[in-house]
Amino acid sequence: MKEPSSLSVLIAGSGAVRAHPTRGGPSFLVNVDDQNLLFDCGRCAVHNISRFGVPVETISEVYITHLHFDHICDLPLLLLLSWNNGRTQRMPVYGPKGIKSFLENGLRNAYVDDIKSRVSHGKNPDYLEWDTIELTKEGVFRKAETYTIDALATKHGGLLNFNYRITTPDKKIVIMSDSEPDPRLIDFCRDADLVLIECSGTKEFYATQDWGGWHMTPEDIGQIVSEAGVKKVVLKHLVIESFSKDPHISESMANVIRSLHPDGETIVGEDGMKFTL
Ligand SMILES: [Zn+2]
Ligand SMILES: [Zn+2]
Repeated sequence: MKEPSSLSVLIAGSGAVRAHPTRGGPSFLVNVDDQNLLFDCGRCAVHNISRFGVPVETISEVYITHLHFDHICDLPLLLLLSWNNGRTQRMPVYGPKGIKSFLENGLRNAYVDDIKSRVSHGKNPDYLEWDTIELTKEGVFRKAETYTIDALATKHGGLLNFNYRITTPDKKIVIMSDSEPDPRLIDFCRDADLVLIECSGTKEFYATQDWGGWHMTPEDIGQIVSEAGVKKVVLKHLVIESFSKDPHISESMANVIRSLHPDGETIVGEDGMKFTL
């Protein structure tokens, strides 16, 4: 594998399901070897990507972790808008089984009249197209000249759910999905330079929510990243902020992780944060 000419991660959305004044839904842009790879495409992803200076038509690959709407609701818009703005290649969309049907129903069928109208006025329909690559198992599924990507399936809400790892000759980035705690995440995150990890709430908060068992507590995260020796931990999917009256709740969760993992750096993610590796 060759060294990539660039490697950075931009947070396009650090929030989750609930509308939030400063946090879009999950969405992360990895620039590797001057290609823009998008991981999840949640609420406000398209708006934020553009707001942070990246033209949407420059995105060349999309990776979806799971089919909860907070992770995919902007995907039809991304494909339509990049087509409108001059995309000239079919978009590869990697994701769990079901992503193909989501795009056929939520884009092709839902926007049938719009697409017909634009094509009749000269738009090339070939450039709206996408190729869905449905993942059904773990392991390496993408090998490029300067990076590989592999997936680890973990439990979350009864869905097929993939965490992704991007490996270059000397860097490792993990983009976690929403997930129940799973000891195999330790190996998956082993010696990673950057791990974007969901921190939806505290144990006490989860006890008040029907879906609380689908996610990790700060204690779960601290144990995983500490045992894995992660260098930089960035918290995302901060659902609890939409419920808690404590404006410092995310920093408090980060402090729990910092106390369990003093050798690494733990950061509360914000929309627009960029990490260059
Ligand atoms: Zn989510
Ligand atoms: Zn989810």
